[in-house]
Amino acid sequence: MDEVRARNGHEPEFLQAVQEVADTVIPYIADNEIYNGKNILLRMVEPERLISFRVAWVDDDGEIHVNRGYRIQMNSAIGPYKGGLRFHPTVNASILKFLAFEQVFKNSLTTLPMGGGKGGSDFDPKGKSDDEVMRFCHAFMAELFRHIGPFTDIPAGDIGVGAREIGFLFGKYKRIQNEFTGVLTGKGLSWGGSKIRPEATGYGTVYFAQDMLLTKNDDIDGKKVVISGSGNVAQFAAEKTLQLGGKVVTLSDSGGYIYDKEGIDKEKLAFVMDLKNNKRGRISEYLDKYPSAEYHKGKTPWEVPCDIALPCATQNELNGEDAKTLIKNGCICVAEGANMPSALEAVHTFQDAKILFAPGKASNAGGVATSGLEMSQNSLRISWTREEVDERLKGIMKDIHDSCIEHGLEEDGYCNYVKGANIAGFVKVADAMLAQGVI
Ligand code: NDP
Repeated sequence: MDEVRARNGHEPEFLQAVQEVADTVIPYIADNEIYNGKNILLRMVEPERLISFRVAWVDDDGEIHVNRGYRIQMNSAIGPYKGGLRFHPTVNASILKFLAFEQVFKNSLTTLPMGGGKGGSDFDPKGKSDDEVMRFCHAFMAELFRHIGPFTDIPAGDIGVGAREIGFLFGKYKRIQNEFTGVLTGKGLSWGGSKIRPEATGYGTVYFAQDMLLTKNDDIDGKKVVISGSGNVAQFAAEKTLQLGGKVVTLSDSGGYIYDKEGIDKEKLAFVMDLKNNKRGRISEYLDKYPSAEYHKGKTPWEVPCDIALPCATQNELNGEDAKTLIKNGCICVAEGANMPSALEAVHTFQDAKILFAPGKASNAGGVATSGLEMSQNSLRISWTREEVDERLKGIMKDIHDSCIEHGLEEDGYCNYVKGANIAGFVKVADAMLAQGVI
């Protein structure tokens, strides 16, 4: 860690992600002769390639803007680089490196042959017209295209990159390369997308929570569920929670959270989806339609008593104090839909209280797993049914859960899912790296 800190001292999110992995994987390496003395982890924390580029584009008033684009190609030991693109003003190398590092373990856990990568830009799609977003996406892809390809690197969506942005990015790639290939995932259904891909991260998170609860002979039916975020992951985590009989009482965005003690039912969720996806509105507008709900400006929803918490917005959105509040209020299960939403102190608080806690690299892996299924369908030039994809997703989430149990079960019967996910993810990548020699 000293060497990693010396080299990446100005990258707090990246160091946080590495520390969490090192805490559990270094003792494992020490106990397993084949990994000893090979500097495997030190090699894994250094990106294979870090690409940064200028993205110049013109707004609707003719003004020229410059943003910074990135692609971090972290590890290709078990397959081509795979991971999302994030468009958000906070994007920088530290955040993308933490996401790319997590992605390596997550992709390994899915059992599919995918390496890890991540990319994006500090461009903010919020408040931009569709034409401006299109011009930005085209300018971004005008450089990115030379670094990616269906056998090299296959980006997908993340914060700020949804169906609209993937469409613009794909269109530009196809135009430049004159090739219709599965170079991006999250595509529209009529042009190579997979059924269930939009739903997959949120659904998978809830399937994972259900698998964890099952170990306690419990389930989601009748449980009160607090969800943060109101984007892609949060929306479909809420949808699956409702389908399994849970009661969703909160959603949020960067402005604050709404609390609807009657429950956000199917009809109310449809309103939120239209508000966020089509009207690109703010979650506070929920009260215009449902005035009996409460809006808490500038706050996160962890103060609301619940049985289950699903953080589905962004990194470090749940701190140590929030974790204590959740436990005090009776929360028994936390499954991360977002990447690293819980600060390290919060993770330790959950584990010390021995409640069920799943790190995002395990519980939100359904998104990238279904992206892997989209790649398979593109290669085979076929399209599976909704039921087929959903069954595969459920199966993958269960396999990931089993891997966590295999490597994370402690003597007192408590499952440390962080340890389980880190070790299971590490073993496959490390074995491939050892087989391929010092590269
Ligand atoms: P979206 O852009 O669809 O939604 C993001 C949501 O999080 C919005 O409600 C947004 O609010 C909120 N948010 C973003 N930044 C902040 C912030 N700094 N503080 C508070 N709220 C914030 O993204 P996704 O739903 O796709 O992604 C959410 C999380 O899930 C991310 O951590 C992502 O990495 C992770 N993830 C996503 C996958 C996917 O398939 N999409 C796969 C695996 C993980 P606002 O509109 O105000 O910005």
